[in-house]
Amino acid sequence: MDPTIVIGAGVSGLTAAHALAAAGRDVLVLDRRRAPGGRIQSEHRGGFLLEHGPNSMVSPAPAAEALIAELGLAGERIQKGEGVKRRYLVRDGRACALPLDPLGFFSSSFFSVRGRLRLLAEPFIRPQAGDESVADFVSRRFGRELLDYVFDPLVGGLHAGDPRRLSMAALFPRLKALETRYGSVVRGALAVRRGGMDPRFDPRRRQLISFRQGMGALPLRLAGALGPRLRQGVRVESLRARAGGGFRLNVRDGEHMASLRAAGVVLALPAYACARLLAGLSPDAAHALAAIEHPPLAVVGLGYRGADIAHPLDGLGVLTPSCEGRGTLGLLFSSTLFAGRAPPGHALLTAYVGGARAPELAQLPRADLERLVGKEARELLGVRAAPVFCGVRYWRQALPQPNLGHGQRLELLRRLEEQWPGLVVTGNYVGGVSTAACIESARAGAARALAVANPAATISVGRG
Ligand SMILES: Cc1cc2nc3c(=O)[nH]c(=O)nc-3n(C[C@H](O)[C@H](O)[C@H](O)COP(=O)(O)OP(=O)(O)OC[C@H]3O[C@@H](n4cnc5c(N)ncnc54)[C@H](O)[C@@H]3O)c2cc1C
Repeated sequence: MDPTIVIGAGVSGLTAAHALAAAGRDVLVLDRRRAPGGRIQSEHRGGFLLEHGPNSMVSPAPAAEALIAELGLAGERIQKGEGVKRRYLVRDGRACALPLDPLGFFSSSFFSVRGRLRLLAEPFIRPQAGDESVADFVSRRFGRELLDYVFDPLVGGLHAGDPRRLSMAALFPRLKALETRYGSVVRGALAVRRGGMDPRFDPRRRQLISFRQGMGALPLRLAGALGPRLRQGVRVESLRARAGGGFRLNVRDGEHMASLRAAGVVLALPAYACARLLAGLSPDAAHALAAIEHPPLAVVGLGYRGADIAHPLDGLGVLTPSCEGRGTLGLLFSSTLFAGRAPPGHALLTAYVGGARAPELAQLPRADLERLVGKEARELLGVRAAPVFCGVRYWRQALPQPNLGHGQRLELLRRLEEQWPGLVVTGNYVGGVSTAACIESARAGAARALAVANPAATISVGRG
């Protein structure tokens, strides 16, 4: 029988392939790049460990934890550092510690009295059915200040996104569900807390984790487990269904073109790449996926001597609300977040520039980017000297934006899988952009692929 071909060796494709192989499926993974991991890229240089993509994963996340255990990576896993005590936000041009609990919210002067009183009115705001943008939902229920100084920087940091375009139902489904079910987010949250919270969503139990050698350890271990079943440097150019059942892929391996047969196909690609391959199978799904925005983002790592930074860097980092008009989305205190990210006596900061908020900044020449981020570090963190290390990674199409209408796009994918048994779509635009969400979606995708016992036979029977 032909193999199941997984296209894409990012964390989604590698996870799906691992699950398929573990269940005994003959599997082959193809990726156009020469190294595994897709957006997960850890670089060791000059004693610094720079994460060009994700710097951490959220825990608890059962699917990710299970995968780490299966790969024997638990001993490599590290928790966020003891020094992470605060989260900073820029307000009036300064990095201010954000109150993290409800008591702190009401007693701290971070928010205006008006903003705090506005939150108290939330339980009395009428619920509204249907999806709306994150900006509309948050300003309607919580007021403008919470939008500007909590949700805007949060979606900037998580998604490099614009709250005026992002879909509330897609990005914060639990908050939307609380409004729908309890008529108020605050009342709903209190009721859920009284009833005993799902540990995955309990903020008191949430941890950030990574690996001693960086996030890249995860795809490397997955790739090692797959061995020759992973083929790098192979780009899939087209995909079509075979008349007798199953699929045919045209692939380019360097100068060579080849045609491969597959019993089933798992598409674990960015939405725009998936759209190109789906054009012949479902123009509607292809069109919907091509419409998912991926704004550019630049990741700038700056290493300093510890003595050259006035700020204690005693937190996760500092996020910048768009209303503050600064150049970065935020600066992560990478060497506080995890041990081993900078040589002794040094600190590593990672800045994120561009995204939906300011795509033009993500394309600045390297020297201009370094200048921009260096200036932010000086003004916000009291950096007094030039960096001793700088690394820049440009992502032309960084992260998918679950903007308004995202739910309908996913519905088309569900129908596509029904129409073509043996075809499974997964990736970071399907179940959430985070690494943990990708792992969960990929394992679910592999389970769907396994549920079709013999995809080729099913298709030929289905066609009469
Ligand atoms: C800058 C940045 C910071 C992030 N920070 C975090 C974070 O801190 N925490 C977190 O949880 N998540 C974070 N994320 C998100 C997370 O890293 C990604 O969502 C996730 O890694 C995506 O994995 P994927 O496998 O779905 O896609 P990708 O990693 O994009 O993999 C897709 C693969 O498909 C391959 N491909 C494309 N076209 C073809 C083709 N035609 N033929 C063959 N192969 C092809 C590509 O080469 C690529 O390897 C971040 C992402 C970025 C970019």
